[in-house]
Amino acid sequence: MRQKLIWSCILLLLLANVYIWQGVAVWVDSRPEIYFLNIGQGDSTLIVSGNHQVLVDGGPDKSVMAELGKIMPMWDRTIDLVVLTHPQSDHLTGLFAVLERYQVEEILATFAEYDSSLNREWLNEVQKSGAKLNYADPADDYHFGDLYIDTLLPLDSSVQSADINEDSVILRVSGDNLSVLLMGDAGFATEDSLLNIYPGISADILRVGHHGSKYSSSIKFLERTEFDSAVISVGKNSYGHPSPETVDRLNKVNAKIYRTDQAGTIRFDL
Ligand SMILES: [Zn+2]
Repeated sequence: MRQKLIWSCILLLLLANVYIWQGVAVWVDSRPEIYFLNIGQGDSTLIVSGNHQVLVDGGPDKSVMAELGKIMPMWDRTIDLVVLTHPQSDHLTGLFAVLERYQVEEILATFAEYDSSLNREWLNEVQKSGAKLNYADPADDYHFGDLYIDTLLPLDSSVQSADINEDSVILRVSGDNLSVLLMGDAGFATEDSLLNIYPGISADILRVGHHGSKYSSSIKFLERTEFDSAVISVGKNSYGHPSPETVDRLNKVNAKIYRTDQAGTIRFDL
């Protein structure tokens, strides 16, 4: 009986040890990382900086939870910032499970209104969760350790577009080494606005707009942003994403193309 107790204590101490060192490892290795999650046809991107996490979109279903479980330390139940680029189901649905399971400190959303039962339900859940809801504004940027998040669009003076995709929240995230442009489902019109408002805009990695739709990623935009790598978040779909025209344009600017449906979750150290 006594021996059993001793062994139980030893086991408990060993487990506590693993738990503590996992935490220390996160603190020591605080270089930001970005993960383009393999969640099927939709978008979900996790950015980690030390013990901070930022999740941009939640994908089309609960598969985001398994992906988060592989990356987040098991003791960490808090997500510092959730960004919903626009409230369509392939970006929003997975966020319901996230909000239920994690404590979300702040939610950043587009100002544009979108009337759907899913979005109404979401706004209801956000209110119940107590998370702070903010609307994206280029004046409000975020720092988490060595991670910098620059809010680019929409402008607070924007007039709502007929197409919700064009009011996607556009972010530029960067660490000391690499920068990434996260385009949501923006198309040509928003790309033109970006080039007009931020003429010198560039990044190392482009998270290609709208899952590689042919109405996104104009050749002018691809040339001006001077990125090396292009990430397409895509799964099995009937929209023809990514379109061969877009892939051609990406090849024309010599982009190294990564697709979540082929490579699975894709990680870069920022
Ligand atoms: Zn989408």
